[in-house]
Amino acid sequence: MNSRSFILSALLLGPAAAAALGAASTGNPFYGDPPDRTHPWAIHDRNRPQPPRVEPGTPSTQAQPGRPPSDAIVLFDGTAASLAKWESDTKPGTPPEPSKWIVKDGAMECVPKSGYIRSKEQFGDCHLHVEWAAPVKVQGNSQGRGNSGIFLMGLAEVQVLDNYDNPTYADGFAASVYGIAPPLANALRPPGEYQSIDIVFRRPLYRDGKLIDPGYITVFCNGVLVQDHTPLEGPGGHLKRSVARPFPDRGPLKLQDHGNPVRFRNIWYRPLPPRAAEGGTDGALTPEATLAKRKEIAAGLRAAAEKLPAAGTARFLQLAESLVYENETATAARVEQLAAAYVASLKAHAGGAVEAKKGEAKSVQRALAYLARHGVVAPSYAPKSDLDAFTKARGWDDEKKK
Ligand code: MG
Repeated sequence: MNSRSFILSALLLGPAAAAALGAASTGNPFYGDPPDRTHPWAIHDRNRPQPPRVEPGTPSTQAQPGRPPSDAIVLFDGTAASLAKWESDTKPGTPPEPSKWIVKDGAMECVPKSGYIRSKEQFGDCHLHVEWAAPVKVQGNSQGRGNSGIFLMGLAEVQVLDNYDNPTYADGFAASVYGIAPPLANALRPPGEYQSIDIVFRRPLYRDGKLIDPGYITVFCNGVLVQDHTPLEGPGGHLKRSVARPFPDRGPLKLQDHGNPVRFRNIWYRPLPPRAAEGGTDGALTPEATLAKRKEIAAGLRAAAEKLPAAGTARFLQLAESLVYENETATAARVEQLAAAYVASLKAHAGGAVEAKKGEAKSVQRALAYLARHGVVAPSYAPKSDLDAFTKARGWDDEKKK
């Protein structure tokens, strides 16, 4: 919250509520713009889930791989045991075979002519971390020097190549999406040193045979952005122009044997949450998906409201909040009844005793104003008009007018 919005909320909510907002509160209902046709969440929605906690990892050095973040699924940790998470990339329909690559000095090394390897683990959208090192002994040039490859889902290749001092065709450069997009920069370290590669991969999405999201690859090479949300045009590949096509939901990670003893270490991934187009609820959704999520949030609020005390305003306000997500007839009728009963109870407080109710009444007034402002209730909503008239008569609106 910036200082301007803090002052605004202090004015809108009162200092106590604004202070609470800055503390442990996850926010206030009846605050930011409500959900709309393609967004199930309100702006600053307190019902929106908190981000899951992830313990960050530690950076790698040349001598030592870093520790992966706490939610990473480790595919290779430098031990011979973790090579068992990989197998030879045998042809479909043939039995799996153990990988022939070797583990040496905390790395797995491609044994030339032994074939590609693939992870037994299958996954789709991910944040993938890989460290690789080209052979210290420089041999060959262009595509022949320190060539391997990181094949996401076994399909799209992020090129592994010793291009430290070795030109080649740009769309086959290290960290290119091979056959599709050159990297934005050559941020390689010299051969023999580990290159740290982070990839954010989103596979293409199709619905009813129609492309709805081409899929994207973002790559950081040694911390330098080298692929910036590059759209996939199919999986890419050698010689032929790539054609967009559906990917499966999951696939193995494959590493290429291109005849060079390239080493790999510290390989892990973190699965990514679904995009809006495939069931996620962040970003712009279809109207149908938005409606379904809004109904779900409303139902959750209504169920939770029943557990709140019947006395006071908490249950009533929570039911009112549910109407912001789904203006359901029975709940709307109940809210109107509770609102009318609340205003009647205020009026029944004699003399000075009602002053103690000022803060509570103002919070109900703000809630009703929000509902009217956003069309959840009519501008002529009777409990609102009654409450507005009541607070005005008590002089409770004066401070707002200053
Ligand atoms: Mg390659």
